Amino acid sequence: MIDFLSLKRANAPHEPAINAAIARVLDSGWYILGKECEQFERAFADYCGVAHCVSVANGLDAIELVLRAYGVGPADEVIVPAQTFIATWLAVSHVGATPVPVEPDPRTYNIDPARIASAITSRTRAIIPVHLYGQPADMGPIRTLASERGLHVIEDAAQAHGAQYKGVRAGGLGDAAAFSFYPGKNLGALGDGGAITTDDTALADTLRSLRNYGSTVKYKHDLRGVNSRLDELQAAMLSEKLRALDVENAARARVAARYLEGLRDTPFQLPHVLADTEPVWHLFVLRTRERARLAEHLRANGVGHMIHYPTPCHQQVAYADSEWPALPLCERIHDEVISIPMVPYLVGHEIDAVISALRSFGGAR
Ligand SMILES: *Cc1c(COP(=O)(O)O)cnc(C)c1O
Repeated sequence: MIDFLSLKRANAPHEPAINAAIARVLDSGWYILGKECEQFERAFADYCGVAHCVSVANGLDAIELVLRAYGVGPADEVIVPAQTFIATWLAVSHVGATPVPVEPDPRTYNIDPARIASAITSRTRAIIPVHLYGQPADMGPIRTLASERGLHVIEDAAQAHGAQYKGVRAGGLGDAAAFSFYPGKNLGALGDGGAITTDDTALADTLRSLRNYGSTVKYKHDLRGVNSRLDELQAAMLSEKLRALDVENAARARVAARYLEGLRDTPFQLPHVLADTEPVWHLFVLRTRERARLAEHLRANGVGHMIHYPTPCHQQVAYADSEWPALPLCERIHDEVISIPMVPYLVGHEIDAVISALRSFGGAR
């Protein structure tokens, strides 16, 4: 049996470093907004090639707080991918603004830059491209359009720690970027965590205040902020795991290369890597019209799989009270995608077993 993802196995190589980090924080007697947090923020900003990193409690808060810091609110619209994890939409809704969905590029599943212009209105304030499955969105045309129209570009980089577009890492591809350190992400904590990266010093200052009750000086509150902070414990563990991120992303890339080679002449639509990008393979997503039968076949062959995502955001009950444009591409893709095991620790015979299970599926596209 090959699990889709075993977090225990993923964290096993980090166990000594994690234990040392826990001991260090316990011994320090300081558990919120201290040295560990500062050190992780410095290291992650450097890793992303930007001036600032502001850590927060999770990825959803990271997106929402950037929108709040930019003053996005009721009566505003924000362009989001039709196809994404629902957090991208929820962050927009939480500030009172309206998410305006745009269909994906059917090769990469990322927001299609060519379809964004027609979704912009006089109320549009920002675009949130998502680097879905670890594949960088096509940021060049998105940034050009945004600067022509005076819109903020906020990357949702929750699935893309370390991914590169034209030599620039995710986190440095927009005006600001939101990351999640949810345990299953490429850089995962042992609990919730998130961060914003940016070169904008004023924005970073506002975010530092917003995440901590609107305060930078104790008991002095300039903004109606929230409590959204990264624990010292999580920050300490993340600093240790950050050191191994490039090695783990390279291991994912090796798994992906073997999958791509081994599945080349099969009827499945394989992931498409955009020219001049370096994905980080958060997920490896296949597409087939016979998904239900393939899922059953994988189950019978002991290969774990998941669906990312089973229901598009606009069809969720949470969004049933609104009218949405027709999103046929997004809906069709949601019916056809299936994710196979993609983790840095997979060894050769496991990768081969996944490939041979897929190759033994007698199906058409
Ligand atoms: C995981 C994820 C988020 C939210 O991160 P949390 O830390 O779980 O709040 C946002 N966007 C995308 C695309 C994600 O995959």
